[in-house]
Amino acid sequence: MPRDFLKETKDEYDVIVIGSGLAGLTSANTLARQGRSVLLLEQHYKLGGMATWFKRPGGHIFDISLHGFPIGMIKSCRRYWTQEIADSIVQLKNIRFDNPMFSLTTTFNRDDFTKQLIEDFQLPAETVKAFFDAARQMNFYDDRDVTTRELFDRFFPGREDVIRLLMEPITYANGSTLEDPAISYGIVFSNFMSKGVFTFEGGTDRLIHLMEEDLKKSGVDVRIRSDVQKIVVENGRAAGVVVNGKTIKAKSIVSNANLKLTIFDLLGEEYLDKSFVDEAKEVRLNNSSTQVYMAMKEGEEIPEETGDLLFSSTAPRFQTDLLLSRDITSRTYSFYYPRTRPEGKQRTLVVSSTNARFEDWASMPKEEYEASKQDLIETTLDAIDKYVPNIRDRIDHVEASTPVTFEHYTKHAFGSSFGTKFEGLEVSRSLPNQLPGLYHAGSVGIIMSGWLGAINYGVIVSNDVDAYLLKQATPNQLKSSE
Ligand SMILES: Cc1cc2nc3c(=O)[nH]c(=O)nc-3n(C[C@H](O)[C@H](O)[C@H](O)COP(=O)(O)OP(=O)(O)OC[C@H]3O[C@@H](n4cnc5c(N)ncnc54)[C@H](O)[C@@H]3O)c2cc1C
Repeated sequence: MPRDFLKETKDEYDVIVIGSGLAGLTSANTLARQGRSVLLLEQHYKLGGMATWFKRPGGHIFDISLHGFPIGMIKSCRRYWTQEIADSIVQLKNIRFDNPMFSLTTTFNRDDFTKQLIEDFQLPAETVKAFFDAARQMNFYDDRDVTTRELFDRFFPGREDVIRLLMEPITYANGSTLEDPAISYGIVFSNFMSKGVFTFEGGTDRLIHLMEEDLKKSGVDVRIRSDVQKIVVENGRAAGVVVNGKTIKAKSIVSNANLKLTIFDLLGEEYLDKSFVDEAKEVRLNNSSTQVYMAMKEGEEIPEETGDLLFSSTAPRFQTDLLLSRDITSRTYSFYYPRTRPEGKQRTLVVSSTNARFEDWASMPKEEYEASKQDLIETTLDAIDKYVPNIRDRIDHVEASTPVTFEHYTKHAFGSSFGTKFEGLEVSRSLPNQLPGLYHAGSVGIIMSGWLGAINYGVIVSNDVDAYLLKQATPNQLKSSE
């Protein structure tokens, strides 16, 4: 008989969270700590969503999305998770750029960028200061008609090299382009510039394991292999879900599934205003990624000067559409030295990531798809040879993933790495006005994506849910909870 992953669930919960990405995990934990009964349903066999890893023989553990996040993660993890998690966040000190316009290594913070922009890029100190101040003062309510390109042109007209330095990592970090609103750039850039780029010591597997322990301590009922098929609506309110064919009731739902999947597949247009449906249909998804995972043989080392993160490109100029092309010219390498997992086997790994379009990969016949993956591997091994000489002879294992892989594992439409574009945030936030009791928390809108954005969005939404539940409570329930 197949195993029942929903064995002994309760008939009703205060909250059901659909999906265990970082936003879903944080939302579930926050609500349980607030005293709510919470059921967390994850369709995959692992928690974490895009914050994930996989193991291969030889003691190799590959991280998928642990490349770098801003210092704000320390505070968020301390407040909403545990001190142990916060204490494991460490800085990546060698961020490298190598392209036909310039090659440099930086700690990727304001002081070092200012120094390099003035000394090496020969920019006036006042201009650099004015740019940093303008980026830092940006907030969510600013004018959204100004694009990132216009922001750069205001401060650095004609300086494609400067734009490349300032933009390339952010395009990589959240998929934003020169045509997106400048605030989507300014806020994320400033977050990184405050102190640099950080990572999690112990790897994604350790982080998710610690989070799972904390969830259980908080009393969250956690279920894997639990695929939600439908959100149940009763009397004009979200009232539960159908999961693995079973109906479970809840006073409120937080969906961490992709925004479009939540609205159009799990709920259905019939419960929503036409204008909202039209707005939701217009929401664009962010692009996806390809990755090549390379594990060095036991004892094979890479000198740390090679960098922690290396933005490498052979394209003569920086163009966002080139970053998405199947004809890859730009790759971001993450180097995982043995210190990434100090308590694990002493292994060195490299992951090469490139932004990619789902449609370029999804429509291929199987044989062509496999051949294209092999080509991706071979061309990446050729490209990285410049930084890790003779890599072909020195690796134990290599494999690749594509946008199809990301869609398969997380159900993100088109394998989108960072959820939706900017306009998704508004739709996500107004979902509860359309259907009381239904909330969305997950990668939307460039700011609310990435590891830190997803965690913070999970917290924001759980506070909304808590307020909703308080309003729904009868006077007697309120009295007994005092
Ligand atoms: C290649 C790559 C590199 C990245 N690099 C970085 C980086 O360096 N720094 C950074 O900060 N961010 C990075 N990111 C982005 C970051 O990983 C994501 O923004 C973040 O992890 C998304 O969290 P989320 O909460 O939105 O949920 P997701 O991670 O999208 O998880 C959603 C979860 O919902 C589950 N689900 C979906 N539908 C259902 C259903 N019907 N029933 C049950 N469960 C369901 C999925 O299985 C999944 O577990 C990267 C992403 C990718 C793909």
